[in-house]
Amino acid sequence: MACGPKLRRTRFAPSPTGLLHLGHAYAALTAAARADPGEFLLRIEDIDAARCRPEFEAAIYEDLAWLGLDWQRPVLRQSERREAYDTALNHLISLGLCYPCRCSRGDIRAALSAPQEGVPLTGPDGLIYPGTCRERAMSDAGPADAIRLDMAEALRFLDGVPLWFTETGPVHPRVQALNNDQLITHVGDVILSRPSIGTSYHLAVVVDDAAQGITEVTRGEDLFEATRIHVVLQRLLELPVPTYRHHTLIRDDAGKRLAKRDDARAIRRYRDEGDTPADVRIKIGL
Ligand code: GLU
Repeated sequence: MACGPKLRRTRFAPSPTGLLHLGHAYAALTAAARADPGEFLLRIEDIDAARCRPEFEAAIYEDLAWLGLDWQRPVLRQSERREAYDTALNHLISLGLCYPCRCSRGDIRAALSAPQEGVPLTGPDGLIYPGTCRERAMSDAGPADAIRLDMAEALRFLDGVPLWFTETGPVHPRVQALNNDQLITHVGDVILSRPSIGTSYHLAVVVDDAAQGITEVTRGEDLFEATRIHVVLQRLLELPVPTYRHHTLIRDDAGKRLAKRDDARAIRRYRDEGDTPADVRIKIGL
């Protein structure tokens, strides 16, 4: 039987915490274009119930359809995937790579402001965690604790496993190798589960990209550092590592990247003002 090349499968994975803006239009249209021929999926990243709203989810479907996009149904919603995230978390715990943490942001800031700590470094999730709770055992974990990955321990566990991913770009794909020292100092012990949510962005994304058979993750360049974390988690969980494409961000006139609260650039505002989907494509340079 003849086997053709594997079709690409991409996804757009917004959180329903606000209206989609021009940056989302760019991300969604880029992911959909990369899946031609292939499959384009939509995933609703709604793990943070306190910030997500059903009306924003409804607006996502409406705005994407207006842009002319179509996607596979049913749509995966992360709020329905808790069991899969728990299984992955428990696996990482059973490998001895996690610890409970009860530090608040204020505690972390205070620990890092001690004179011997030098200038605090920030990583993809904010300040690099100083490791205050690292010696705590999982048996000591309570409901108010977050669960962190001990990055140094995880990298020791992965000793000998090649840590890299392929980044596709406008010209040639290139290999991005991960640097262990950089992961420890500039990423650190990331949170795998927040007490209020029961999982985290990093863990849920990795579990779902694998479950949905995503072959290419298309995301903004602001998530480049997060991709490194995801490759570590994929290796620990023995999941396939997709290829990644980090696209440029759409910025406002002052050069600032658009935020969800920036309703002035919401897709539906352009629609309401009489723009067509083609006008929106021109505005974002597609
Ligand atoms: N849900 C994330 C966001 O809205 C993006 C998901 C991803 O590409 O990993 O920024």
